[in-house]
Amino acid sequence: MLKVRNFRKKYHEHEVLKGIDIEVNQGDVVALLGPSGSGKTTFLRGLAFLTPGDSGVIEFDDQKISIESATPVDIKKLRQKMGFVFQNFNLFANKTAIQNVEEGLIIGHKEPKEIARKKAQEALQKVGLLEFANHYPSQLSGGQAQRVGIARAAALNPEIILLDEPTSALDPELVADVLQVIKQLADEGKTMIVVTHEMAFARDVADKVVFMDKGLVVEENEPVEFFDNPKSPRLKEFLSRISAANIADNSFEYEKANQK
Ligand code: ADP
Repeated sequence: MLKVRNFRKKYHEHEVLKGIDIEVNQGDVVALLGPSGSGKTTFLRGLAFLTPGDSGVIEFDDQKISIESATPVDIKKLRQKMGFVFQNFNLFANKTAIQNVEEGLIIGHKEPKEIARKKAQEALQKVGLLEFANHYPSQLSGGQAQRVGIARAAALNPEIILLDEPTSALDPELVADVLQVIKQLADEGKTMIVVTHEMAFARDVADKVVFMDKGLVVEENEPVEFFDNPKSPRLKEFLSRISAANIADNSFEYEKANQK
């Protein structure tokens, strides 16, 4: 469904993405892991916000773009297939939860107001926040705000949802609810790429785990094999550091919630 080949991106003369290859099948959840600074966010944003100097090829269903020669129309068409969920929610502070969800339906999709309202209500219902529809972001917890962010992306029914560390700004006790909502989307068959450092989530929910380091995909595999039988020294080292940190801060909130 989505194939990215040799995607390169520079900031000034510094090449941050050095030829990313990735494939995402329809209905799959791909967990993207890697050390800080490895280029995960740059990659996710880069997919939708192509800028001059980028290179590579992106295939999405029947659309094939050579990045160097992509026109604004090509890029717009590509972007319309994608939904985004960011680290720090990015909700409009002066709009209520439901207005935040409606915005893209009304402005982007040109839906009539009543239909947009109905779809926004359904989306909020799915993330368990219908009763908070008229709350402003400042009246929501971080976890609730992020669930509104997810509802906003999902309401537009994009072909793929790109989530950039959707739980990283949250207090540990709020992480599980957000991961549960993402898991629900996965169970519904939504195609997603999730940048995450929640290993339990990557293991339990993802169909494929991809490890990036220094602007390259170093290793990818189905989750059990990825975690139990890592091949490259860089992934082995990364996993040993992560598991030490997780044991230290005991932050397997998602796992704990699932065991209840
Ligand atoms: P990750 O998401 O894996 O932590 P990033 O994609 O944020 O990594 O960053 C990858 C590299 O790109 C880092 O070295 C970072 O300093 C650099 N970088 C990110 N954004 C910019 C920017 N706007 N200008 C210059 N360098 C950037």
